[in-house]
Amino acid sequence: MTDTPLRTELSALGEFGLIERLASRVQLTQPSTVKGIGDDAAVIDPSGLHQVVTTDMLVEGVHFDLAYMPLKHLGYKAIVVNLSDVYAMNAEPRQVTVALALSNRFPVEAVEELYEGMLLACKHYGVDLVGGDTCSSRSGLVIAVTAIGAATAGELVYRNGAGEHDLLVVSGDLGGAYMGLQVLEREKSVFTETGAQPDLAGHDYILERQLKPEARRDIIALLKQLGVKPTAMIDISDGLASEAIHIARSSGLGVRLYDEKLPIDPHTYNTARDFNLDPTVCALSGGEDYELLFTVRQADFEAIKGNPNLTVVGHMTDANSGYRLVDKQGGEHELTAQGWDAFLKKG
Ligand code: ADP
Ligand code: MG
Repeated sequence: MTDTPLRTELSALGEFGLIERLASRVQLTQPSTVKGIGDDAAVIDPSGLHQVVTTDMLVEGVHFDLAYMPLKHLGYKAIVVNLSDVYAMNAEPRQVTVALALSNRFPVEAVEELYEGMLLACKHYGVDLVGGDTCSSRSGLVIAVTAIGAATAGELVYRNGAGEHDLLVVSGDLGGAYMGLQVLEREKSVFTETGAQPDLAGHDYILERQLKPEARRDIIALLKQLGVKPTAMIDISDGLASEAIHIARSSGLGVRLYDEKLPIDPHTYNTARDFNLDPTVCALSGGEDYELLFTVRQADFEAIKGNPNLTVVGHMTDANSGYRLVDKQGGEHELTAQGWDAFLKKG
């Protein structure tokens, strides 16, 4: 017996051997999947629905750091961030394809771990992995996922549909993923400098927000159940401020956010304070929360009011009113994609 993990070089299997190995673990469950891995292209039957297609790329050193990101989590997250975009169209994701650039630094076992996470996400969200591409990379790992979903034309929700006076609503809470990243980076630099083991105790919630985010399929289902169709929607990958401005700009409107309304988990809040960061700024600009941001007509307020998963954070205004943040004292600030002006001045 030995402790050394099995390490099979990619070259031992070759590209086709690797694809075969990965494909052997893929199960297809979507009725709309006609043909999965194994031909020149996958075949999908949209059955008269509109298809939505979206791609997101994750690049080592830019979007993730393998020093603290386990491969299985990375695989899970790579799928989830794409599905989040499909839900943000108010569509149901059905298939994904996965393109990988791998350096010979990674053994076959590492790629299998990555796929374990991807297939777990596929199973959880009921989507089929139907194809992809595999090539070599001279440096880091690159993962490009394409997600394909479907909806009726009437169900689809675009960014540009918001109306003046519509309420701006966000799901869940904000800033957690960013604070999780701050904790991971702090512990990584402590480890690099002193060799001390990372102290992550008590940070479970924000670490999970960063390392194992979920796409808000439940919110899409909730809104259907409440009989509320958003007028515009976007998922929060960059930060509330930036996404709110996207909706406003696409819809030809202004937007007004209220600091006191921003949903921030107490642990996120306290960790931000410990790091000498403004929790409001973390919520506005933190990014990677993968919550949904959407607008609803005022008439729908009764239906969403008091729901613990939904928070009204502001409303849409006419274009001339611009993009504004109202602070807790009632003062008004220009909202920018980076957050708000006070943050920028602090540098
Ligand atoms: P081609 O030369 O036509 O691009 P490939 O040999 O790249 O074909 O791919 C063969 C099959 O394996 C295709 O169905 C493709 O979608 C699938 N495939 C290739 N790489 C991956 C991967 N990383 N994950 C899942 N499927 C893959
Ligand atoms: Mg190919």
